[in-house]
Amino acid sequence: MSKWLSSKQHLGILPRGGCSFLGCRVVICGQIRNVVHIVHSPIGCAYYSWDYRADSRGYCFTTDLNEMDIIFGGENKLLKAVLKVIEEFKPDAVFIYETCSSGIIGDDIQFVAEKASQITEVPVLAFECAGFRGRSQNFGHKIANLCLFKLMLDGERNAIPNGVNVIGDFNSKDAEALEGMLRRIGLNVVCTFTANATIEKIRNMKNASLNLVQCSRSSEFLAKLMEEKFGIPYLDVNFFGIENCCESLRRIAEFFPTHSSVIEDFIDRNLRRIEGKLREYRKSLEGKTVFICHGAQRVFYWIKPFEELEMDIVGVATYFSKKDDREKLLRMLGVPVVDNPSVDELEEMLLDLKPDLVVSDDKIRHLVHKLSIPFLNGRGQGKAYVGFSGFLDFSKDVYETVNTKIWTLARRDRFWN
Ligand code: SF4
Repeated sequence: MSKWLSSKQHLGILPRGGCSFLGCRVVICGQIRNVVHIVHSPIGCAYYSWDYRADSRGYCFTTDLNEMDIIFGGENKLLKAVLKVIEEFKPDAVFIYETCSSGIIGDDIQFVAEKASQITEVPVLAFECAGFRGRSQNFGHKIANLCLFKLMLDGERNAIPNGVNVIGDFNSKDAEALEGMLRRIGLNVVCTFTANATIEKIRNMKNASLNLVQCSRSSEFLAKLMEEKFGIPYLDVNFFGIENCCESLRRIAEFFPTHSSVIEDFIDRNLRRIEGKLREYRKSLEGKTVFICHGAQRVFYWIKPFEELEMDIVGVATYFSKKDDREKLLRMLGVPVVDNPSVDELEEMLLDLKPDLVVSDDKIRHLVHKLSIPFLNGRGQGKAYVGFSGFLDFSKDVYETVNTKIWTLARRDRFWN
């Protein structure tokens, strides 16, 4: 396994994990609607703004700190920027992000946020998420969760019957699909956090009776805070793949026993509905190999769905995984597992393993395509991959990607023997 961990490390190259600021701004906060984001930084950090994730919402600006701001401080510039975006865009809230430069010079972004909020009466949240504050983007998730949790502290809690929150889903199509599925089994979805969330919905999250945690790595912290403060219990759920989906629905049924017959009926109907089509996809995909490159949590999600398609996972690359995650993956899969590979390492692994498919996000799409290997964005890109219909769509995408003839033609004369 270690043969791929070369000494050729190129710091800052995309496949490597992100910083706390990225975890806060892009992963957690970027999907909330009608919010304007201000990155208090020199222009470089603002690379993490619109296009980095397809589902990013709202406008994102940077204060573009220059040498003079670094010497004399950038608080006035930041305040002006906040007031200007409130005047121009009339957002529900403004989010200010600290970055390494503004953190190091000690700009007081909390003070600026309070002042702007007093002047305009618009909520302004300050996220102290400078890249140096944590070892990886995980710390940024925590900062974002803590800050957004404070929105729930205003007002009394009024429990909504059968109210649930979905926490840790950051794909708007997945969130829509989950909301639809949960409504069909008789639940009221208070908020999907953070895909499709609004400031108002986040405030109302405290009124739910149960939190469904879809990504525990990014959001279990919030679920725990809500359990402590409001007594709302949480369940870890996973709606990727049939077995995971059925298991999660049955766990929800245990919590809402009056819904159990509706839930069983829903599962039966859906299994029958997708069975025939899935059989076709399986027939074509059986024995094909796949390489997964995602955050560790998402890698765990994809294991069963690929087993259900009878495909073999031949290698895994994770971003910012913990040692325990990697050991667990090794035990479960018995295949090479590396964390935070550089471009060179990833390329070497892929050329050695020659998978029939790579599943990752767009950060490595071009590298994979250059190696003439079929690539699928595991985040769905405008589609839902959760639930029964989502799994059918996922299977179709895998089937079409693996069987696209262009890759066989492209491989003929490059890299592959
Ligand atoms: S916050 Fe720091 S680590 Fe993150 S992108 Fe900006 S400079 Fe880089």
